[in-house]
Amino acid sequence: MDIVGLTIEKLHKAIKNKETTVTEVCQATFERIEKLNPKLNAFLNINKEKSLERAKTLDAKLKNTLDLPPLFGVTVAIKDNMCTEGITTTCGSKILENFVPPYSATAVLRLEEAGAIIVGKTNCDEFAMGSSNENSAYGVVHNPWDLTRVPGGSSGGSAAAVTADLSIVALGSDTGGSVREPASFCGIFGLKPTYGRVSRYGLVAFGSSLDQIGQFGKTTLDVAKVLSVVAGRDPNDATSSNCEVPDYLAALKSLDIKGLRVGIPKEAFGAGLNPEVKDNVEKAIKNLETLGATTVDVTLAHSEYAIADYYIIATAEASANLARFDGVRYGFRSENVKNLSDMYKYTRDLGFGAEVKRRIMLGTYVLSSGYYDAYYLKAQKVRTLIEQDFRNAFTKCDIIAMPTAPVPAFKLGEKTEDPLEMYLADIYTVTLNLAGLPGLNVPCGFSQGGLPIGCQLVAPHFQEAKLLQVANTYEQNYPNTKHLEI
Ligand code: GLN
Repeated sequence: MDIVGLTIEKLHKAIKNKETTVTEVCQATFERIEKLNPKLNAFLNINKEKSLERAKTLDAKLKNTLDLPPLFGVTVAIKDNMCTEGITTTCGSKILENFVPPYSATAVLRLEEAGAIIVGKTNCDEFAMGSSNENSAYGVVHNPWDLTRVPGGSSGGSAAAVTADLSIVALGSDTGGSVREPASFCGIFGLKPTYGRVSRYGLVAFGSSLDQIGQFGKTTLDVAKVLSVVAGRDPNDATSSNCEVPDYLAALKSLDIKGLRVGIPKEAFGAGLNPEVKDNVEKAIKNLETLGATTVDVTLAHSEYAIADYYIIATAEASANLARFDGVRYGFRSENVKNLSDMYKYTRDLGFGAEVKRRIMLGTYVLSSGYYDAYYLKAQKVRTLIEQDFRNAFTKCDIIAMPTAPVPAFKLGEKTEDPLEMYLADIYTVTLNLAGLPGLNVPCGFSQGGLPIGCQLVAPHFQEAKLLQVANTYEQNYPNTKHLEI
């Protein structure tokens, strides 16, 4: 069976019609991974044997029923910062190169319970810190549309895997844009749900007030199917919400967006926005109007402080969260040291990469006495203002549309010398994490050079169904017709 362009819907249809088996799809997937991963470096760890065994078990089960569990036989790639029992979980870091978790993240378990097959763990920026996947200790990931370019980050491996059909869907994590930005660079759908929508139990913490597990797919429907399985309260994560999980698939049945009020924040269309991105996002908004939506101007006045705000809060939280990697409990430990204090120092010095160290230093600085009020406390106040901007905007509109990233995928190495330049790739995404809001990248065109461009849709808290309904309506009317050749 040809797995290129395979979606959950197509897979299930083929299985029900006895045109394929889970084993056949799984074998084809590993053949493709073996062929393409050397070019892409999307996977750090391939779970071939266990997956093929599981495929056989699933096929055997199928003989008794045709009532398929929601993710029956679906190949899934998992970002390597989510724990998978018995499978190495490195977070793209040397400090965890040998870490094998004794348990799986709740999101991973829920996928497996729904019938999914975890085909492997994907490359990412070290501890999810980055926007290009160039901060991985295990090498860069290449963008499937242009191997000389970045796939985006930090969930670059997951985005590249889905784009190149190495898995049907994938999970990533999004602290400041790490699902949406790579989805935009790779031309696929990428959702960051509301803060608290998906359990983070077993996700290695980066910025605990910002982190959320997101979903990648080639269609809105695939994203909705995965979200339906992973969303909802988990007693193991106190920050997971009790808010009822709506029927996302039912929401997709309507292709009517007449009267939808789409907010356009002028701040997101100003200086710094690449003209081709601007044109394509504006074209997408026109298309929404053609489908019956109306646009209204909204202001997100405090978003000019968003990058500074995010890089104070995220680094502060990261410096606390990463204190646990000290050579005692997990992974790598420096040998040949004289005393305990040296062991900590050398382990962290040799185990962490440059960007992670930079963040830990920034984070401890903004939390240190004398600076706490000036930086951290102030950043928390600005965060409230950013959230307030969105609340005000949503009194005038149902969703907001703006670019996901200011540029299409950039060249490998283009921004590595200048961290501030790299941080600006997140200018339109970090505000949602600061405000806890859901956001979805919708592919909306290509640059003249053939690089994907994405439009970001934003909805009020817990209104993922609205986002998915609008995205699906868009997708059904304006499908992507350009095929990846790799
Ligand atoms: N690029 C941002 C950062 O480097 C966001 C990362 C993320 O969402 N995990 O912090």
